[in-house]
Amino acid sequence: MAMRLEVKAGIRDCTLINDSYNSDLNSLDIALHFMNRRPEREGKSKTLILSDIQQTGVPPMMFYTHLAQMIEQQGVEQLVAIGPVISAHAHCFENLQARCSFFPNTESFLQSPLFGSLRNQLILIKGARSFCFEQISDLLEQKVHETILEVNLSAIEQNLNYYRSFLKPETKMVCMVKADGYGAGAIEVAKILQDHRVDYLAVAVADEGVALRNAGITANIIIMNPEMSTFHTLFEYNLEPEVYSFRLLDALVHAAKKECVTNFPIHIKLDTGMHRMGFDPLKDMPTLVERLKQQNAVIPRSVFSHFVGSDNDDFDSFSARQYELFLKGSQQLQAAFHHQILRHMCNSAGIEHFPERQMEMVRLGLGLYGINSRNNQLINNVCTLRTTILQIHDVPAGDSVGYSRRTFMERDSRIASIPIGYADGLDRLLGRGNGYCLVNGQKARYVGNICMDVCMIDVTDIPCQEGDSVLIFGEELSPSVLAEIIDTIPYEILTGISNRVKRVYYQE
Ligand SMILES: *Cc1c(COP(=O)(O)O)cnc(C)c1O
Repeated sequence: MAMRLEVKAGIRDCTLINDSYNSDLNSLDIALHFMNRRPEREGKSKTLILSDIQQTGVPPMMFYTHLAQMIEQQGVEQLVAIGPVISAHAHCFENLQARCSFFPNTESFLQSPLFGSLRNQLILIKGARSFCFEQISDLLEQKVHETILEVNLSAIEQNLNYYRSFLKPETKMVCMVKADGYGAGAIEVAKILQDHRVDYLAVAVADEGVALRNAGITANIIIMNPEMSTFHTLFEYNLEPEVYSFRLLDALVHAAKKECVTNFPIHIKLDTGMHRMGFDPLKDMPTLVERLKQQNAVIPRSVFSHFVGSDNDDFDSFSARQYELFLKGSQQLQAAFHHQILRHMCNSAGIEHFPERQMEMVRLGLGLYGINSRNNQLINNVCTLRTTILQIHDVPAGDSVGYSRRTFMERDSRIASIPIGYADGLDRLLGRGNGYCLVNGQKARYVGNICMDVCMIDVTDIPCQEGDSVLIFGEELSPSVLAEIIDTIPYEILTGISNRVKRVYYQE
């Protein structure tokens, strides 16, 4: 059954989990598990606000006793029970560790000192519709910037499974959570991936890895671009570096020896045609093998390279050459060691296009976030960027809109202002009529120059009013479409959404 769990920042350092689904024991169990997996739970106590549950068939005594056990097992520290029936069964909750408070209705809870004193809690709000718990969440929710990025965690799972379907059961997977999980939020995404036991996570720099560790991520993490200054951090937080040059290798070995680190896993990058980073598989292998063999500070855990054009059939013969070159280089490395060194080359497009080149491991990036880079189609859409109409102006024909008078209206127009600008990651190139968003399902073009925090859209032909929702991108308007308009790639659209845009996570 569909359910929707939303995580929102609350007032007084609370975090809210809203469950809009009608309540029953099964969905409560799922919601409590969800709560226990939240990275935000660190240092917060867990509160459950729960209404009467309209159960079927089971005698209330038995039902509420069972409910009390569930609450105990899930480590809820405070129960706020609202409704005449649950209050009448208060005795079922007598032996709980949790502090329990009972209220006959929502209103009496909102008036109580307890409501005003909720602070630094992770609060699961779950009530039958008739109890109007949205009043509770409205009052507890922190109202900030009205532009939000909604992230569908279930879609991430579905995309993971979609790409797994191309793989042999034993093939391992690295999931890329660099650039804050392609904009979706690295910590939340990593948590989901860790639950699904992916073999590796990968980020660009050590700080990103530290942030994951501090959020409780224990999975293996690869650092793609380790800076020389962060070696100590790598060892301390168990972050495995990519090594692409002799200079980097020597410095890393030197640092590891100084700290008496041994057998630290590293990932050897070969340059097979990208000409970005990597050892030369034709020239460097003998020296690389020799340098690796004469020390025991680090040990090659994997060897990999990167296709330059797995998303496009035009490059198939070049990809084949890259693959041959990689096999040659990686073979020389493997021959020098007794342990297996994992080989990997496929990114998302490669997994789909060259499943026969999956070797022992693959690296999933964009596809996880719902976009197929081979055809720019959505797989399962993950990120939806929404905002709302702040104000609507009637602008007569001949007037201009926005800075520098770049757009003059050719007809009498209705122009809506929306609180998103280039500082939020809305590319300025979309302005002046180049791009559009959707208002009530219809295309509304950006008018004039996009400003820093706000922009204007033409809603002349669209029935709408102030406060209406605006879709910047999502299921109905893919980031790929916006990317094409401004001659970039969906990666840049997704990773460009700035930090001040609030992320709201939900599961279906
Ligand atoms: C980002 C990255 C990937 C993932 O690529 P996608 O096209 O997003 O799947 C794979 N390998 C390396 C080395 C990367 O930097």
